[in-house]
Amino acid sequence: MHRTHTCGELTLNDLGKEVTLAGWVQKSRDLGGMTFIDVRDRYGITQLLFNMDDNAGLCEQARGLSREFVIKVTGLVVERSNKNPKMPTGDVEIKVTKLELLNAAKLPPFLIEEETDGGDDLRMKYRYLDLRRSPVRNNLILRHKMAQEVRKYLDAQDFLEVETPVLIKSTPEGARDFVVPSRMNPGEFYALPQSPQTFKQLLMVSGFDRYFQIVKCFRDEDLRADRQPEFTQIDCEMAFIEQEDILNTFEGLIRHLFKAIKDIDIDAVPRLYYQDAMRMYGSDKPDTRFGMLFTELNEIVKGHNFPVFDGAELVVGVNASGCAHYTRKQLDELTDFIKRPQIGATGLVYCRYNTDGTLKSSVDKFYGEDELKKWAVAFNAQPGDLMLIMAGPTEKVRKQLNELRLEMGNRLGLRDKNKFSPLWVLDFPLLEWDEETGRYHAMHHPFTSPKPEDIALLDSNPGAVRANAYDLVINGTEVGGGSIRIHSRDLQSLMFKHLGFTPEEAQKQFGFLMNAFEYGAPPHGGIAFGFDRLVSIFAGLDSIRDVIAFPKNNSGKDVMIDSPATISEEQLKELCIKTTV
Ligand code: ASP
Repeated sequence: MHRTHTCGELTLNDLGKEVTLAGWVQKSRDLGGMTFIDVRDRYGITQLLFNMDDNAGLCEQARGLSREFVIKVTGLVVERSNKNPKMPTGDVEIKVTKLELLNAAKLPPFLIEEETDGGDDLRMKYRYLDLRRSPVRNNLILRHKMAQEVRKYLDAQDFLEVETPVLIKSTPEGARDFVVPSRMNPGEFYALPQSPQTFKQLLMVSGFDRYFQIVKCFRDEDLRADRQPEFTQIDCEMAFIEQEDILNTFEGLIRHLFKAIKDIDIDAVPRLYYQDAMRMYGSDKPDTRFGMLFTELNEIVKGHNFPVFDGAELVVGVNASGCAHYTRKQLDELTDFIKRPQIGATGLVYCRYNTDGTLKSSVDKFYGEDELKKWAVAFNAQPGDLMLIMAGPTEKVRKQLNELRLEMGNRLGLRDKNKFSPLWVLDFPLLEWDEETGRYHAMHHPFTSPKPEDIALLDSNPGAVRANAYDLVINGTEVGGGSIRIHSRDLQSLMFKHLGFTPEEAQKQFGFLMNAFEYGAPPHGGIAFGFDRLVSIFAGLDSIRDVIAFPKNNSGKDVMIDSPATISEEQLKELCIKTTV
């Protein structure tokens, strides 16, 4: 038997037992007469004691063990004289009677402890060693638990888990596809799914009613901290439902997860229309852990000969409560922050509402105290507050002020990782204008249903058509999104027409779906959650990388297995791929 117990479970209740443990040497301390070794496995760490007086040979053997050697020990559970209250096993140690070296190890390239000295690149190259560290391992344990709870909840709601293919066909769904050459069909390619969207809709046509899948999706996009070329979705679809049913079902899922995993009770999830989210927060994924809502000022600031405000489409600001004491230097920092190229604002106007009741702005030349009082009323500001104001084209200035609001939230410590504020954002626009291609694109995807009352606007004012589309946002991160789908062939054809497809193109790419709609398609809709993001939020992490066992780096590379990599001439030939390299 390799072990009778794990390295995480022995306590004072086990005193006197003879046990066998197996694991990795984390640390060893040689105190002359005694040698202590910490042995680690997935479950925890237990201290081993080797006593020179008891067994000099064994003690010598123990001294020869280095970090990460794999060992098996047998011994007695005894009470420690020097207890460690921080460890579950910290009251006991094992007085070792037998030691077996199962495998030696090279010195690891970084410390395999809670805190490590290894840089990102090194840890990625030796990911299998990084995964031995408890913080990384705990993220994967959390991920596992969340996946189990998702299955439990959805199964109880009669959802069926159905697998859909990974080798599919390239379709325009927003991002670029990863493609796979077909050896048996020279010159032809499969694509890896960006999501199982069309398949889950076909499952609804097949009568499956409630489908889910925890599924890998692939998008060939430029990477950011919260993006990976392959990622996991909790993908769901339901038939014979309305938007309200979807919102209730998946709000239930989120509440179940918070309760089961974190023992947190989430109140009913508030709902905000897209238009209001943009107006009040300048973002379709507002962080609602804190207030600091936008105040629009056009009506009170225009007409005072301040050209920046007079010429702007929108003058809008936030009230940073309690920040009137901000120094010139701090205000300059904020101005520099919004002027960074990523944000691109031209300037910041501020107005201090001093604690003595006086008002002082950076544009005193144009606005007297009486005017500033009106500002304070509009902002609902109190003495001690600081009003921060920006001006510009509506959409742009809202986005810029959103960045400033989030920055102020950070500075004021309002974005607590242990606080969770979910929000539904509803009624997204159906289409969005794309400057680059000079035409409209589906904001969610082309299968999303317009609101029936807005269909008439498709010809006259396409940008104003609202969709039955919704996102679930937690703490300013979009964790899920979905829509009620089109289920009639005619409406789907019309949609493709508005997206610039000829009838032939639409038929070639999506004929299979439109044909299916002619064989009795029920009304249906669904949603998909970014599982990696959801886990990272539960884990309190900014990046999804640490909740993925073997992630890729920012260049889309797996530096451990060294992928992507070239393939042999022979393979290329077999695939009928000619290269110039
Ligand atoms: N397939 C969509 C996505 O990946 C989600 C959905 O509409 O259900 O974003």
